[in-house]
Amino acid sequence: MNNVYYGKLIFELSKEGRRGYSLPENKLNNYKLADMPEALMRQRELDLPQVDELTVVRHYTNMSNNNFGVDTGFYPLGSCTMKYNPKINEEMCHHYAFTRLHPLQNENTVQGALKLYYELQNMLSELSGLSEFTLNPFAGAHGELTGLMVMRTYHASRGDNKRTKVIIPDSAHGTNPASAAVCGLDVVVVKSRPDGTVDVEDLKPLLNDEIAGMMMTNPNTLGIFEHNIAEIASLVHEAGGLMYYDGANLNPMLGMCRPGDLGFDIMHINLHKTFSTPHGGGGPGDGPVGVRAGLEDFLPNPHVVKDGDRYTLTFNDKSLGSVSGFVGNYGVIMRAYAYIRTIGKENMRMVGPLAVLNANYIKESLKDCFELPIGGVCKHEFVFDGLKDKSTGVTTLDVAKRLLDYGFHAPTIYFPLLFHEALMIEPTENESKETLDGFIEVMRTIAREAKEQPDMVKSAPHTTPVRRLDDTQAALHPVVNYAELKLEN
Ligand SMILES: *Cc1c(COP(=O)(O)O)cnc(C)c1O
Repeated sequence: MNNVYYGKLIFELSKEGRRGYSLPENKLNNYKLADMPEALMRQRELDLPQVDELTVVRHYTNMSNNNFGVDTGFYPLGSCTMKYNPKINEEMCHHYAFTRLHPLQNENTVQGALKLYYELQNMLSELSGLSEFTLNPFAGAHGELTGLMVMRTYHASRGDNKRTKVIIPDSAHGTNPASAAVCGLDVVVVKSRPDGTVDVEDLKPLLNDEIAGMMMTNPNTLGIFEHNIAEIASLVHEAGGLMYYDGANLNPMLGMCRPGDLGFDIMHINLHKTFSTPHGGGGPGDGPVGVRAGLEDFLPNPHVVKDGDRYTLTFNDKSLGSVSGFVGNYGVIMRAYAYIRTIGKENMRMVGPLAVLNANYIKESLKDCFELPIGGVCKHEFVFDGLKDKSTGVTTLDVAKRLLDYGFHAPTIYFPLLFHEALMIEPTENESKETLDGFIEVMRTIAREAKEQPDMVKSAPHTTPVRRLDDTQAALHPVVNYAELKLEN
C-alpha cells in the first residue's frame, strides 16, 4: 500500500503547520501590489497538505514503486508497441534550446526547430517510400482522420463526389471505422479468410465508383503479413479508390519493405509506437501522415518546407485545411528524431527482423501450452487463444493476472475480437534473449499451475499492492480520493 510507515498503514500525512521549507519574513506585506477585484481574491488559505520534504519524497517514491512500467519490467502488450524509450531521447527533448521556444515565435528565430521537423519529414518519406509527410496530427487515430480527409479532398478536387464509402477489413483496429465515421464516410466491411488475411474474393464485389478507398494494416492486427497486398492495391486502384495504410504496425517492416512500394497512397505512422516515446496511460503521441506524389497539395496547413537555406511554414489553397493547433506534438517529434538518429541507417535495417525473430521465438516456445489459432511465421506480434488445456476453467484473464505475480506485465487480452480468449503478445526488437526466456519460463509455469492449482491462478494476483480490481467499476466510478476509500482492513 501507499504509505506504510514502520509497519503502520497511514493515509493522512498532513500535520498542521508542518513545512518542507522556510522563507524569510515577507517584508512586502504592507505594500499594495496590484488592484485585484475583491471577487477574484482568495478568501481563505488553500487546503494543501502540510508535510515535511522527506515525507513528500517518500510518498511519491512509494507511489511510483506501486506502478508497473516499461522501465520496471517486460511489457509485451500487442497492438500498441510499448517500446524501450532510450533515455537520450528524454535528454534531447528536454534541452532548453527547444523547450523554451514559443509556437508563435518568428520563423527566423526557430530555424533549428523547423530544420529538425523538416528532416524528420524526409526521414519518414525515405523509410516509407512516400513522397511527402506532415507531422501535424497528434495521434494515430488523428492521422487516420487526416489521411481520410486527404482522400476526400483528392476526390472532390476531381469533382468526383460520389465516393462516400471506405472498405475496412473485419480484423481492423477500432479506430479505423471510427475515423471513417468522423470523416463522414460509410464503412464497408471485408471479411478475413481462416488464415487471418483479407479475403480477395469477398473484396471484389464490394468495389465500385462509390468507394473512396480502402484502409489496411500490414502486418494486420493478427500479426500476419497480407501477402495479397499487391493484388488488393491494384483492384482498389482500378476501381478509382485510394489505398490507406494504417502504420501502427510499421515496426516489423522497417528495413524490409516500404508501404509506398507496396501500392499504398496515404499512410500514418504512430511515432509513439514505432519510434519510441513512452505512451502508457494514453499519451502523448504524434501521427504523421504521408502521401504519394500527386497528393502533396492536399496535406494539412501549415506545412514545413525548405526554401534555399531557410525553413519556412507554407499554406496551400488546395489543402484540406488545418487539423491541429500549430505543428504537432513537438516533444514526440524530437524523440522520434533522436531515436532514428541514434539507431542510424545501417541498424535501422535490423529493427524489423529482430522484432519478427523475437515474436516467433516466443510463439514457437509456447505453442504446446497455449492454443495457436493461426500457425506459420508471424511478424512482430501473434495471438494465442487462451490455454491449450481449458478443462480447469482457467481463463486468459487469470493468466494475465498471474503474470503480475511474476513481475511481468500482461500482454493485450481479449483483442482482437476474432477469438474468445485472445492473448496478444508483442515483444518488440529491444528485449534481450534472457528477458524473453524468463517470460517463456513463467508462461509455462502458469500453464502448469493452471492444471495443478487452478484456484490459486483464478485468484491471482497475490503479491501486487492491490488485488483483482473491478475494471468496469474502476472505469465508470473511479475513486480518486482516499477519503472515499473503504478500507478492507
Ligand atoms: C494504436 C493503433 C491505432 C491508433 O493509434 P493511436 O495513436 O492510439 O490513436 C490504429 N491502428 C492500429 C492497428 C493501432 O495499433
